[in-house]
Amino acid sequence: MDFEYTPEQDAFRKELRGWLAANLPRDLCVDDPADDRVAPDRATFERRCAWQKTMHKAGWVGIAWPKEYGGRGASIIERVIWDEEYSASRAPVLPGMGLNLVGPTIIHWGTDAQKLQYLPRILNADEIWAQGFSEPGAGSDLASLSTRAEDKGDHYLVNGQKVWTSGAQYADSIILLVRTDPSAPKHNGISCLLVDMKSPGVVVRPLVLATGHHHFNEVFFTDVLVPKTQLLGPINQGWKVSTTTLMYERHSSGARNPIGQVRDLIAVARRLPVDGGTAWDDPKIRQRLSQLLIDCEAMKYTRYRALTRQIRGEPPGPEGSILKLSGSELGVRIADAAGELLGMHAIINVSTELVPDAPRWFNRLVAARQYTISAGTSEIQRNILGERVLGLPKG
Ligand SMILES: Cc1cc2nc3c(=O)[nH]c(=O)nc-3n(C[C@H](O)[C@H](O)[C@H](O)COP(=O)(O)OP(=O)(O)OC[C@H]3O[C@@H](n4cnc5c(N)ncnc54)[C@H](O)[C@@H]3O)c2cc1C
Repeated sequence: MDFEYTPEQDAFRKELRGWLAANLPRDLCVDDPADDRVAPDRATFERRCAWQKTMHKAGWVGIAWPKEYGGRGASIIERVIWDEEYSASRAPVLPGMGLNLVGPTIIHWGTDAQKLQYLPRILNADEIWAQGFSEPGAGSDLASLSTRAEDKGDHYLVNGQKVWTSGAQYADSIILLVRTDPSAPKHNGISCLLVDMKSPGVVVRPLVLATGHHHFNEVFFTDVLVPKTQLLGPINQGWKVSTTTLMYERHSSGARNPIGQVRDLIAVARRLPVDGGTAWDDPKIRQRLSQLLIDCEAMKYTRYRALTRQIRGEPPGPEGSILKLSGSELGVRIADAAGELLGMHAIINVSTELVPDAPRWFNRLVAARQYTISAGTSEIQRNILGERVLGLPKG
């Protein structure tokens, strides 16, 4: 990979940076967008939707989407630049389920009518989406799902339960995996439906994290009537449709690099008083934080390797699993290091003079492990790498 940017790419970066500086409302910014992917309350959620509309009007939303569907058709490098500049500006994560997962899946599998109905509304934050895949008895082994959709002629009748549904409290629609042929082998009897969350029989119940944040939900379906026009992809081929969605999910979850967190931690260590000096005077602390910086750099180059394959048009390699695994585990190591370095400052959840961003570190300490579970757990990523890279027998 060439590490130099072309003049056009530099110009793209400059234009985006300038536009964000001029248009991003300061009071909408977050300490670290990765910590805050589901808005904490409805008022914040609505302000973020309004921000997305402003961005969309200026042509900065869905930049990776093809132009014919309202996107910008940006190159892979432009997408990287967009990610870097957007997160450096501390702008909040946009309601991403529709933009990053559902929209691209509809582009791939949807009918013309579905594309027309949903894609413009996703880009303009007029339609917010949730992902209804996991169930109490089906997570890593997703194909065991048991939510049923019975064929009733012109519609399906859906009964069952989903769980860990991020942001469902704000969602207008949900992309739902259902069993349509219980007699078929488990991967072959699944279909994918696009369901209106306001349909009678849909009930959302909150699941609140240990941090107090209402991130995800249980969603119950009781005799929910879904028109047949809402089938996404062929009947009983929902497993293939879900593979498309999960590929986009892993791609977007591997894109974040926590190097900013480590730099923040080093800044705290330099001012934290210990034994008449600062924590940074301790060589063990310096070594530990330096190792975390090295790990972030290694992650950056693994990402470049994955991008190089994409640019060359080669099929995706194991980098997606490596990035998901190493990025989420690195997040836990950073949070653990912060907990040990900051001591009580990391657990009181209150700003102090010494550590003004203590609530952020509290949040990370409690929440970092969730990313080793979402989008395929660390164990599942290790299974994939063991089988596909090391040639080990199936786990
Ligand atoms: C922050 C977050 C957001 C999420 N958002 C959504 C969402 O919006 N929509 C949605 O549908 N789901 C969502 N999920 C659910 C997520 O996809 C599941 O939690 C995940 O797939 C794991 O499933 P599970 O929780 O049922 O755990 P299980 O699959 O029951 O796993 C339990 C443990 O067993 C291990 N294990 C399981 N199988 C194997 C194996 N074959 N080999 C080795 N170890 C194994 C796992 O690694 C794990 O440690 C979210 C989860 C999190 C944490």
